[in-house]
Amino acid sequence: MDFSLSNEQRSWQMQARKFAQEEIKPIALDLDEAPDAHGTFNWDIVEKGSKLGFRTLAVPKEYGGEGTDYVTQALVMAELARGDSAISKTFSQNWKWSHLIAQACNPEQKERFLRPFVADHRFLLGKGITEPTAGSDNRMPPSDAPKAGLKLRAERQGDDWILNGEKCFIANAPVGKLFFIDARTDPNAPLRQGTTMFLVPRDTPGFRIGKVFNKSGWRFYRNGEMIFENARVPHANVVGHVNNSDMKTQAAGDRTGGDIFGDLELAANALGVCDDACESAMKHAKTATQGGKPLFDQQLVQLKINKMHMWTEALRSLVMRVAWEHDHKVHSANAGLAMNLSTDVIQEVTELNLEIHVGAGGNALRHAEKLVRDGFIWSHLAGDTVQRLKVAARLAKMAAH
Ligand SMILES: Cc1cc2nc3c(=O)[nH]c(=O)nc-3n(C[C@H](O)[C@H](O)[C@H](O)COP(=O)(O)OP(=O)(O)OC[C@H]3O[C@@H](n4cnc5c(N)ncnc54)[C@H](O)[C@@H]3O)c2cc1C
Repeated sequence: MDFSLSNEQRSWQMQARKFAQEEIKPIALDLDEAPDAHGTFNWDIVEKGSKLGFRTLAVPKEYGGEGTDYVTQALVMAELARGDSAISKTFSQNWKWSHLIAQACNPEQKERFLRPFVADHRFLLGKGITEPTAGSDNRMPPSDAPKAGLKLRAERQGDDWILNGEKCFIANAPVGKLFFIDARTDPNAPLRQGTTMFLVPRDTPGFRIGKVFNKSGWRFYRNGEMIFENARVPHANVVGHVNNSDMKTQAAGDRTGGDIFGDLELAANALGVCDDACESAMKHAKTATQGGKPLFDQQLVQLKINKMHMWTEALRSLVMRVAWEHDHKVHSANAGLAMNLSTDVIQEVTELNLEIHVGAGGNALRHAEKLVRDGFIWSHLAGDTVQRLKVAARLAKMAAH
């Protein structure tokens, strides 16, 4: 395994670092503290980042994207997250679904949706699976009882499908222009056999966005409700086959591009937050004083900083290994393990950073508090019991072979 970077990978990394320092950092704290969920978003930063290629990093070159490898994507994600974790995620959410378009869509759909996506700096993507009564059910066994899992219904009417139901917590919903939507096309079949994936543009008749969720962390990242009231979607927007959503492969323990990428994505994003925390802890410990000498001279502070670096470097090694494995098509459970590790590491490292900053006051303390709130999002996304059970199931499956 060779972790040395090519000139191209290094150049993307440096460009993302510069963008995070010069463009993201100066606005991140204020956006984070905007009192309502609508004031935390900023199109300007999305457009600026998009012009540098950060929105289309994962789109194949033949469709006008940057066509970068996974190592580059991990590097860029981590660097952007050093500026703001949620802004990094807003960009990488598009890479996740670009991977899905590249893998699951037919050539006509790629032409129809990827080209406009690439051309428009304000074009964001999302995927709606979760519903008010169905979250974990959609993602892990035992979900194959016909009544378990998502309920949003799609019924065929001539050349169209009519969608009725609701999704919630959907990332980029309030700002996205195109969504993958999982809908039940056979309500009597278990989830894996009765679900179909549709491409639903924002201006679809009968489709609208409901409320925007006001979160304590990742404030920039938009999560919203989706309401479908006789929404009319053409049959040409079915992704893959009817009753054959990509959930089937996920349930079988095989991984789709979007799914694999999701694990790497969260781990790489957490790495950027940890780098940010390590940097600011060291800066504060060297400048603040206690008992007439720098905070850093206190052994307890040194031990805390040592622990922060130890965990961060361990996470970096696993993130880069997973990215390398994806690029070389090596199959392992490491992506899931990295995702779970990232939850433990980000929460430990940001909390230690906050402890070091407790007496700091001002922007330094606001920033340390923000990192802790952002880190808690991993409990919902990457470190919950469901994710850990999924990884355990994968380990068991691999051990059986
Ligand atoms: C920031 C953010 C972004 C999101 N983005 C999207 C998105 O873009 N698209 C989308 O579709 N969804 C999205 N979600 C929703 C997310 O996928 C769901 O919140 C998640 O699937 C959990 O579902 P739930 O909230 O209904 O919790 P529940 O399913 O009700 O689970 C509640 C708790 O019970 C635990 N639990 C459940 N089953 C088991 C079990 N068998 N054994 C042990 N423990 C169990 C879970 O781990 C969890 O701790 C997002 C959520 C967040 C927070």
